[in-house]
Amino acid sequence: MLTGLLLGDRYISRLPNHAGYFLVAVEDHVSAPMVTPRPRHTVVIVVDGLRMDSAETMMSTKRLLEHGQCRVTDQGGYTVSRPIYALLSTGLEVDRTGSRNNDSAAPLRAESIWQVARESGLRVSGSSHLPWFHELFPEGFDRFTLARSHEDDVFATPDGLYDVNLFHPLYVDEAGHQTGAASPEYKATVARADVEIGRLLDRLDLTRDLVVLTADHGHRDAGGHGGAQPEIARVLTCVAGARIAKREDRLAFDARATAPSLALLLGLRFPRNMRAGDDVLDQIFAWTKGDKSDAAYLADRHAAVARFRTENAAALTGWLGDAPGTWPRLYAREEAAQSTRTAAMLVLGVILLLLRLRQTTRAAGVAMRRAALFTLMWLTMLVAATWLSHHLVLGDFDYTVINLKVRYLPRAFGVVLLAGAFAWVARVVQERAWAGLANDAVTFSALLLLCNLGHIFVYGWPLGFPLPSPAARYFPFFGAIAQVGFGALALFAIVMAARESRRR
Ligand SMILES: [Zn+2]
Repeated sequence: MLTGLLLGDRYISRLPNHAGYFLVAVEDHVSAPMVTPRPRHTVVIVVDGLRMDSAETMMSTKRLLEHGQCRVTDQGGYTVSRPIYALLSTGLEVDRTGSRNNDSAAPLRAESIWQVARESGLRVSGSSHLPWFHELFPEGFDRFTLARSHEDDVFATPDGLYDVNLFHPLYVDEAGHQTGAASPEYKATVARADVEIGRLLDRLDLTRDLVVLTADHGHRDAGGHGGAQPEIARVLTCVAGARIAKREDRLAFDARATAPSLALLLGLRFPRNMRAGDDVLDQIFAWTKGDKSDAAYLADRHAAVARFRTENAAALTGWLGDAPGTWPRLYAREEAAQSTRTAAMLVLGVILLLLRLRQTTRAAGVAMRRAALFTLMWLTMLVAATWLSHHLVLGDFDYTVINLKVRYLPRAFGVVLLAGAFAWVARVVQERAWAGLANDAVTFSALLLLCNLGHIFVYGWPLGFPLPSPAARYFPFFGAIAQVGFGALALFAIVMAARESRRR
């Protein structure tokens, strides 16, 4: 029970590692400068928690579509806010930035487009209801305005716009968590964002300025994000302004191409650690009409992309020990190591189970085979009952169910209670004795502890590379609660069994 409490509490700090994994730093510089003028103001709007279907209803996206294009963006499978801010800013996937939750305020080692812009002499401003973009990239902003309350309009910049401006309102996400994306409250906040963005667009001139409107992730109908469900992992990204090609259709886009796209459109060098090799960088060249006067600049940028790919391949060959140096090969090697460690834990689990079964059958005497089979069946049914009650009470077995911690914890304990009630009914009512349940509940708790510790052995501390599946990365949260809950059940059964044997 105690280990459950400890492990659950420590998992938060086990998730992030802002030093990153397998970072490749490529030094780039623009040797043939952009000839067409750089946008007067560049505006990047990240509406937190804005679902794609809601974005499509906004007047602001329609206005941007008149001067540019909107794309269906894939944010990847790890749709947690801070990790996506890191992904959007660096062009690097969550596996490697090392930003894996909202809790770590440490700066990120991977370089952001905000730092690149400042280093190139542009003035960069940020305005948000949260300090997180600034915490990740403290050197990325000349000015960062933190709104005092959610009532404040982050788009109102009384001191004027800078060269590059990041706007990040939070209230849409907040409504998503409180009442769900299907609620009128959520739609009202989307309408509010639409009005505030509209006022910002009124201040801009899309023949001279550049606007990027996107989101970090969507929301479930009932509220919640963190998984790879389409209504969460797909958002709308609209880009409009000078030189942006007008198109009505929705091209596919990858969120990792956001920072490199900004670099290309602003005439800046690419951020140092952006994903290159098996990448999505060809998508960044389709935003513009391809002005002839910029032919030399674009050729230089294509050459830069090729250089990033070559240098990444060289680093990969070094890590892998032989050619070809590709990301899929590195993923395969690291996943194989995780699988080997999983297999080792499974063997350990089977050994533990066999030892416990031997104890059970010894006590059962003649009926030993029947007793062993019954224990196995009961353990399997308990796992199935837990799985089923999780789906009934909470939903999918991933981050999306956590939504609001205060509501998650009692419901997660409810899941354990429901499965525990099943365990009790299946045993005590039938056997009219506590001894059997006490024995098998201890076995179950021991196996659960092995799973919780095994997770650390398999995926590392901090959680390493690559990231486990959505279910496996959620497991430590629920596993810790299950450890506490079923541990309590085992303890209760032991006490009851002891009282029973004293009475006899
Ligand atoms: Zn959120």
